[in-house]
Amino acid sequence: MADLCNHIQGRNVPPLGGAYLDNPNPATGELINRVPASTAADVDAAAAAAQAAFPDWAGLPATERSRLLLRLADLVDANLEPLARAESVDTGKPLTAARAVDIPRSAANFRYFATAILHTSSDLHDFDGGGIPGGVPALNYTLRKPRGVAGLISPWNLPLYLLTWKIAPALATGCTAVCKPSEVTPTTAAMLGDLAVEAGLPPGVLNLVHGTGPDAGGAIVQHPGIGTISFTGSTRVGQWIGGHAGPLLKRVSLELGGKNPFLVFADADLPKALDTAARAAFSNQGQICLCGSRLLVHRSVADEFVAGLVTRAQALRSGDPLDPATQQGALSSGPHFEKVSRLVEQARELGGRVHCGGRRVPAESLPERCRRGYFYEPTVISGLDPRCAVEQEEIFGPVVTVQTFETDEEALALANGTAYGLAGTVFTRDVTRAHRLGAQLECGIVWINCWMVRDLRTPFGGAKASGVGREGGLEAIRFFTEPKNVCLAL
Ligand code: NAD
Repeated sequence: MADLCNHIQGRNVPPLGGAYLDNPNPATGELINRVPASTAADVDAAAAAAQAAFPDWAGLPATERSRLLLRLADLVDANLEPLARAESVDTGKPLTAARAVDIPRSAANFRYFATAILHTSSDLHDFDGGGIPGGVPALNYTLRKPRGVAGLISPWNLPLYLLTWKIAPALATGCTAVCKPSEVTPTTAAMLGDLAVEAGLPPGVLNLVHGTGPDAGGAIVQHPGIGTISFTGSTRVGQWIGGHAGPLLKRVSLELGGKNPFLVFADADLPKALDTAARAAFSNQGQICLCGSRLLVHRSVADEFVAGLVTRAQALRSGDPLDPATQQGALSSGPHFEKVSRLVEQARELGGRVHCGGRRVPAESLPERCRRGYFYEPTVISGLDPRCAVEQEEIFGPVVTVQTFETDEEALALANGTAYGLAGTVFTRDVTRAHRLGAQLECGIVWINCWMVRDLRTPFGGAKASGVGREGGLEAIRFFTEPKNVCLAL
């Protein structure tokens, strides 16, 4: 078991203070490795390296940055197996999921932005001088310049996928980066540092500082040399970051939590809605910000729907994440397991009906090596007041609550009745209703008769307490660049 290192100036270095955190495997309790417990001094060193590398990196032709990022994408693909295994061991998710989704998507992120940057254009306004006192004919064009050093902070649920979703646009536009992966799942980020060297990225372009949120993450947010912060994580931490980065006038993007409604109308294709609802509720053990965690079902089909969902939940096989037959792995950590368990207990106390799950997976049903792991059964709960804490707080586990409605207005009020606004799903065959709800649901993305279909070119992000700003496609390129207007009199 080797200790992980920070990656600064193209080299793997120990934390300056010499302190480490344990990184346990949530499926077995075994120690995987130790993670640097970095402090502001490590962040200073990483920021200095990123600042020094910035002028040359920004000055490279976009084709050259693109070539290096495409090489990095190829190396991620070439290391699919070790990366997927490390991701599975760090997170507790099934290896099959890490292999099919997390790692290929990380390579796709690099490929997408490495090519997108070759096809961006600047705006030009051909002004004829008319209608404005003193106006003269002029060409006004807008250059987009990389902003400098970007601080990129990411969570544990899709570790490499979400971190590369930030690194790729930052580096493609010519920014350099100081990254802080989650301390709960740091291993694939550390591996990426080595792949960046192998790909030929100049030293200092990509720096990684491991450690806790308050110490390493907070130091990034407050560092005067890091002017741009892209954060994905909880709403609570996002609020802290907004509060501290705001007075420093940093540019900030916050991708935060969700409590996403999944609406099923009586005219829906019910078998398809059921299969999708089960995937939306339990994929990655419910630990995806976009999971459909609040099922809103038309009263006339509610009993049938709940019964179908329970059947699907009970059929999911929990087990060793490394076993190819496993569909449900472990929750990511002990504290997170405690949070999920506590909210289900609270649901019981509030009179909720637990249709299935609602407990730890019995140890005797798990293989020997996983008996101390944080496995929780897929859980379906109904009968709660929609305003109670369990219906309002993000649980972020394999737990879905069910409410029923009679009219479209009731459905909409329930759907919009939380502080969050990340994603919504609607199953209906009524095309007018689909479009109306597409516009009226208060969230950043609405899926009609599907879930989790992503086109990397579309703006991605949340409304209300789910975030500020948008990532993806042009939005990300705009975020990491500063517009500069040039006016040339004719
Ligand atoms: P978290 O907010 O606890 O931590 C996220 C990251 O921020 C970690 O790297 C953490 O170390 C760091 N951090 C914590 N405190 C910090 C501080 N004071 N300053 C700077 N950094 C700090 O979130 P988590 O538990 O790792 O992840 C789960 C959350 O992420 C859920 O709420 C989920 O919905 C959200 N999430 C959102 C999206 C999205 O795109 N909207 C995607 C995935 C996950």
